Amino acid sequence: MSDCLFCKIAAGEIPAKVIFEDEDVIAFHDIHPVAPVHFLLLPKVHIDSLAHATAQHQALLGKMMLLTSKLAAEQGLSDGYRTIINTGHGGGQTFFHLHIHIIGGKPLSTNISEISTQ
Ligand code: 5GP
Ligand code: ZN
Repeated sequence: MSDCLFCKIAAGEIPAKVIFEDEDVIAFHDIHPVAPVHFLLLPKVHIDSLAHATAQHQALLGKMMLLTSKLAAEQGLSDGYRTIINTGHGGGQTFFHLHIHIIGGKPLSTNISEISTQ
């Protein structure tokens, strides 16, 4: 997807504060953090949203789930963190390349409506 910001970041064409990268995924700090730690984890392959993932992405999605906890620990989120995947316009997604938000570093409300990614 030539016009996709996250594809361009994954390709190294647009800079980001990268915290992890391998052949399948990349993680970098969100440009507008909503908490002391707020990073995004996404596949390098373009998938519009979670709703567009298919069975062929099963291993990739599993890898991302396990990486989420590993990277959260490395970012110092020993007390816990929140993961958010906004999906579609109705789900508040604004960049249509599947990504997981990992957020923490401050006490987060048990009311999930009290934290936003915007
Ligand atoms: P969404 O609303 O699609 O779930 O989340 C998109 C996220 O991408 C937002 O939290 C926004 O701050 C972040 N973002 C948008 N543009 C950039 C950018 O150029 N660099 C980085 N690192 N994050 C971005
Ligand atoms: Zn993309």
